[in-house]
Amino acid sequence: MLMSIVTWLASALVLGLVVLFSARPLRRRLISAPIFKTYKRILPQMSDTEREALEAGTVWWDGELFRGDPDWRKLLAFPVPRLTADEQSFMEHEVDQLCSLVNDWQVTYEDGDLSSEAWQFIKEKGFLGMIIPRRYGGLEFSAYAHSQIVTKLSTRSSALAVSVMVPNSLGPGELLLHYGTDAQKEHYLPRLAKGLEIPAFALTSPWAGSDAASIPDAGVVCRGIWQGREVLGMRVTWDKRYITLGPVCTLLGLAFHLYDPDGLLGDKKYIGITCALVPRDTPGAEIGRRHLPLGAMFMNGPTRGRNVFMPLDYVIGGPAMVGQGWRMLMECLAAGRSISLPSSYTGMAQLTARAVGAYARVRSQFKTPIGRFEGVEEPLTRIGAYTYMMDAVRKMTAGAVDLGEKPSVVSAIAKYHVTERARQVVNDGMDILGGKGICLGPANFLGRAYQQLPIGITVEGANILTRSMILFGQGAIRCHPYVLKEMKAAFNSDSAQGLHDFDQALFGHLLFTITHGLRALWKGLTGSHFVAVPAGVAPETRRYYQQLTRFSAAFAFLADISMLVLGGELKRREKLSARLGDILSMLYLCSATLKRYEAEGRQASDAPLMHWAIWDTMYKAQMAFDGVIANFPIGWIGRSLSRIVFPLGHPYDVPSDRIGHQVAKLLIEPSAARDRLTAETYLPQDVAESVGALEKALEATLAAEPVEARLRSLEKQGRLKDNPEANVRDLAQAAFNAGLLSAEDFALLKRRNELRDKVIHVDDFPFDQRRGQQPAPLHKAAA
Ligand SMILES: Cc1cc2nc3c(=O)[nH]c(=O)nc-3n(C[C@H](O)[C@H](O)[C@H](O)COP(=O)(O)OP(=O)(O)OC[C@H]3O[C@@H](n4cnc5c(N)ncnc54)[C@H](O)[C@@H]3O)c2cc1C
Repeated sequence: MLMSIVTWLASALVLGLVVLFSARPLRRRLISAPIFKTYKRILPQMSDTEREALEAGTVWWDGELFRGDPDWRKLLAFPVPRLTADEQSFMEHEVDQLCSLVNDWQVTYEDGDLSSEAWQFIKEKGFLGMIIPRRYGGLEFSAYAHSQIVTKLSTRSSALAVSVMVPNSLGPGELLLHYGTDAQKEHYLPRLAKGLEIPAFALTSPWAGSDAASIPDAGVVCRGIWQGREVLGMRVTWDKRYITLGPVCTLLGLAFHLYDPDGLLGDKKYIGITCALVPRDTPGAEIGRRHLPLGAMFMNGPTRGRNVFMPLDYVIGGPAMVGQGWRMLMECLAAGRSISLPSSYTGMAQLTARAVGAYARVRSQFKTPIGRFEGVEEPLTRIGAYTYMMDAVRKMTAGAVDLGEKPSVVSAIAKYHVTERARQVVNDGMDILGGKGICLGPANFLGRAYQQLPIGITVEGANILTRSMILFGQGAIRCHPYVLKEMKAAFNSDSAQGLHDFDQALFGHLLFTITHGLRALWKGLTGSHFVAVPAGVAPETRRYYQQLTRFSAAFAFLADISMLVLGGELKRREKLSARLGDILSMLYLCSATLKRYEAEGRQASDAPLMHWAIWDTMYKAQMAFDGVIANFPIGWIGRSLSRIVFPLGHPYDVPSDRIGHQVAKLLIEPSAARDRLTAETYLPQDVAESVGALEKALEATLAAEPVEARLRSLEKQGRLKDNPEANVRDLAQAAFNAGLLSAEDFALLKRRNELRDKVIHVDDFPFDQRRGQQPAPLHKAAA
């Protein structure tokens, strides 16, 4: 009896579904039409600028993760980015030379700027024209080469990295390349490539930061006298701040709203956001004052202008491109965002891993290198594993740009997560250094990076906003197979066609949701053991691919239910949106890490870095699932989601201490794995430099460790008598004097001691030291 009821119900359900999915005119009238009506009513209105931002860029690997069933073969087939012979040579010679010309303390404290010599080198060697094609005199480097260079420069000095990366990122150079008229390209690109022009790009105003499209800066189309002739032009008023390279720029990219009240260009009164190139000497342009962003001495400052007249030819792309500024900016944003901050902040992490790791071995307390204490191992582990993952993300994302992608969501993921992890890595590094990290001076190699961390968190899309609005918000619309179609249908002015398209998208969407719900449940019940994994992946990573597929299916399902239940309200429920964005991001970070592990030949000694990084990230993804489910606005749906996503409980615990120990150990002694992890770190050879001294001190510490152990044992046996007159106990001297230590061993200890003393040294200054309090008035870039 019971069986026949169940059979009957199941048959009715199947029949209902078949009718629903096949009888289109009926379902359109009965189901889709009323839903369409409500959907159109609740869909938040979208401005042109919002729509342009959402639609800009391309969908890449993020699309696979969003659709719930990533094709891992695609990931493994993405070409591994490599440097050409020219790029490799540039990295080894010009980049190294430039690093050697810069002393960060000199820059940040003494001079307030890079030296004239460094600026000259930057310009002459083409550092400002890495993205400019050779035919205009640029270096025409790949995105990957660009990323490698910025990574290395930032291990030396933030002012150096920023001064080089900004002209190669979103700004006059890139905008000209894509939208400039031939005349503009011919004139400016060769000059930018050789550093004859220093560019800056001014969008942010005091009243519009994150909401940049609401800038009040405005221009009015009018006639005016320009170089003795009457021409069609614009009178522009602007007030901008925070503009990088602004104080020294010779060419200012400027974004403003353009109006045409007299109809000189046509019948549109409001033309839209417009981007122009304003030479520094344009009468009325105020350029030159400077901000002091957290002691980072790259040039940054405000610029203003009131009713400044400029010809329409100043518009990037000429008069034909008036009003296209926002689209231009959004289209170009992804490339720069994929490279600049992911690279510079990975550089910071590499430096921390290298130098703090060495310090943790050289510095002893309680007769033990501090890196051997479990308490210190914990932060060391994060430093190592995060750096491995950050580097993987930076490389994979730059590689996407080289494949021709403009990955809008992926670039936001890379920017957000690399800068956040750098914040953790540098904070951990500071904890390990103790007072050594706190007292500023030439001997401090991390304090400045620590001070400047918030800059990357804030620029190129402030992180809170990026996490709350972009990662999932833009991801859902761009990567989802049906959401954009539904939205487009709602905006369709032909409502019959709109309903037709909506109906198709809606039922496709429903099927998609049901399928992923069932897939997520099945994979949860079976522990994802039956998920197919491409043949040939490293056996030790197989389970990660399976779990990632499971999480991807669960994410697709959870995202869909959230969108179905909350609709446009999800835009305001930023905490939920942020957690959904976290899951998508974690899937991307793990994908990049697996890609790196394969690309580098599955190095057994790197395996702990890979395992810990992935385990930790999967655990965080799991917490993000919990965060969405626990806070789901309708309780019973939340509880049901929990049963579908985690039917047998949570698959991940915190990563193991055992693997954490292996990671920490990797950081405190020289090895090929440590070299790979910190491959782009600039290592000065001179022991007068703190990082140079650390490198040598680490070698000397290791060489001296067996002798040190013997010394300790002699001490324990009471065979060493200290010299009571010595200020610092010198057991080595005592042992040598007593004939208990050979001259060779004594020399090893002496060398270790000399280098260790250099490393633990912190700077002190005369009591009335005041220099460096004021920035130097001289701006050497302009010299
Ligand atoms: C050193 C430096 C260099 C810069 N270089 C340039 C440059 O070269 N050119 C240029 O045009 N601009 C530049 N900027 C500007 C930079 O892009 C802005 O600072 C950034 O867009 C944030 O604007 P804001 O600082 O006014 O912060 P606000 O917009 O006031 O934001 C404050 C906080 O609120 C959060 N927030 C805002 N809206 C939301 C939301 N809807 N949901 C959740 N959180 C939200 C933000 O995440 C942030 O944490 C630079 C800034 C700095 C500090």
